[in-house]
Amino acid sequence: MKQLIFLIWTIICGQSLALAHQSSITYVANEAVLITNGDKKVLFDPFFHQAFGTYQLVPAETKQAIFSAAPPFDKLTAIVISHAHGDHFAADEVLKYMLKHPTTQLIAPEQAVTELMALTGAKPILTQVTSVKLAFNQAPKTFEVAGLMIDAVRIPHAGWPSRAEVENLVFRVTLNNQGTSTTVMHMGDADPDDDHFLPYKDHWQKRVSDAALPPYWFYFSAEGRDILTNILNVKNSIGIHVPIKIPDRLKSSGQDYFSKPGELRKLDESHEH
Ligand SMILES: [Zn+2]
Ligand SMILES: [Zn+2]
Repeated sequence: MKQLIFLIWTIICGQSLALAHQSSITYVANEAVLITNGDKKVLFDPFFHQAFGTYQLVPAETKQAIFSAAPPFDKLTAIVISHAHGDHFAADEVLKYMLKHPTTQLIAPEQAVTELMALTGAKPILTQVTSVKLAFNQAPKTFEVAGLMIDAVRIPHAGWPSRAEVENLVFRVTLNNQGTSTTVMHMGDADPDDDHFLPYKDHWQKRVSDAALPPYWFYFSAEGRDILTNILNVKNSIGIHVPIKIPDRLKSSGQDYFSKPGELRKLDESHEH
């Protein structure tokens, strides 16, 4: 009897523990999203000044919360930058944040890091920065930063072959926490052409992602949808970079997307074996 009670107690506590550590994605604005799994937190593309009168800027109070490390933006493990465009990256604010939060790491394409480190007063953050140098057609890179398992692939920016010089990176990041793991793929402004993705099919197959965050235009072509469904090895996708005036075609697509800052999606974590 005692053993049975203990067993039931273990099951109940185990479940509440699992709930407490449920992982999630919080939408910030444009392609800025916060991924959390317990004490692991990754914030993508959070600081930018441009919205071209079309996209969401980070609301002032959210920006304030990020800088002052108010929950859920407290103790960020890392900030990750997809590419150095003005609607994804503002070097001045990234520098300001990194100086204020010396335990947070930055992972960014070399192009963004070059811009950042050229700023006056940037030297102290050098040890926090991982610069990802990847040429077009170069094999993916895999590395670990602050307990995060990260890989990056250079996928051309939307509009290919124009803007070929932009170092747009597709990141797959795994957040391990207390025996659970959450993997999310952030795609920056990737071009939805399967010729870019097919050469890396083995790479995508190595690790399943709980969610991909494609720019919403992936939903508008058969190739874009095929990349998400058949190539990237992802369980779900949530569109980002959605204009404030949501395209009717997106609304009626039946696809999931973020459009309101503060929106939250829970993710099922997989248990490590
Ligand atoms: Zn861009
Ligand atoms: Zn963009």
